[in-house]
Amino acid sequence: MASSTEIPSIALAGDISIPQFGLGVFQVAPEETIENVRHAIEAGYRHIDTAEAYGNEAQVGQAVRASGLDRSEFFITTKCWNDDQGYDSATRALKTSLGQLEMEHVDLYLIHWPAPSQDRYVETWRALIEAQQAGLARAIGVSNFQPAHLRRIIDETGVTPAVNQIELHPYLQQAGLRREHADLGIVTQAWSPLAQGLVLDDPAITSIAAEHGKTAAQIVLRWHIELGNVVFPKSVTVERLHENIDVFDFELSADELAQIEAVDRGERTGPDPDEFTRP
Ligand code: NAD
Repeated sequence: MASSTEIPSIALAGDISIPQFGLGVFQVAPEETIENVRHAIEAGYRHIDTAEAYGNEAQVGQAVRASGLDRSEFFITTKCWNDDQGYDSATRALKTSLGQLEMEHVDLYLIHWPAPSQDRYVETWRALIEAQQAGLARAIGVSNFQPAHLRRIIDETGVTPAVNQIELHPYLQQAGLRREHADLGIVTQAWSPLAQGLVLDDPAITSIAAEHGKTAAQIVLRWHIELGNVVFPKSVTVERLHENIDVFDFELSADELAQIEAVDRGERTGPDPDEFTRP
């Protein structure tokens, strides 16, 4: 079992550190979530990525409290949904999320999508800045923002998001956006780090896995860690929860990293952030 102390942390602005590895609970049914998060905590996970839109914030909060561990041991992220964008509604949405989580603050609050057709992400960002100042979110960031959206919120408010959570996996490596993040001092969070399983049969990845005596999922997650990404793969299977966190006892060589770099296809599994507003 990996202990949480083995998981590296990355510093965010404001003297906050985020565990580089956690659990994502997108598409985990509310009735499954308490058990899923409990199993993850038992396996050493302390960082949980949820969202108002996932419908399971209440269960994440219950599982955290049921662990008996101090709240300060956890890093909890949730997100403001597109319908809640706008200064007043985003302010209300965070309070609703905190009510559902039964927590006084989240560690990270994100704008879930830019939804540019609504043109409300700048005023939403202002609401997040104030929420952070009020202590309701220790850190604030965005998700699915393209370079133009990032530059606009920074130019108009002077506040840089701590993170941008984007689709990122070996088939969509996002080199340009990662460079932009590095230039701006934004930490990259990789959503669908395993491309929902799509990359796990890739021959380059399975052959590296065989070399290390590791699984394809472990190779892909290790690749993210070495790139400096924050990851939170989803799994409701206890064995896979243990498998996925067990990536801190080996390293990939420069040649193996180059082999994975070569499988990039620029292929999304999810929506185009410039277009997406609602499913
Ligand atoms: P993922 O890449 O984590 O894939 C999860 C799926 O991969 C599982 O359902 C399972 O089928 C498979 N899997 C997991 N571990 C495995 C293993 N060891 N061996 C074989 N198969 C395995 O995809 P995801 O759930 O879409 O993304 C992870 C998290 O990212 C989400 O739970 C959510 O927290 C976040 N997310 C955010 C956004 C956003 O817009 N911000 C969008 C999607 C996901």
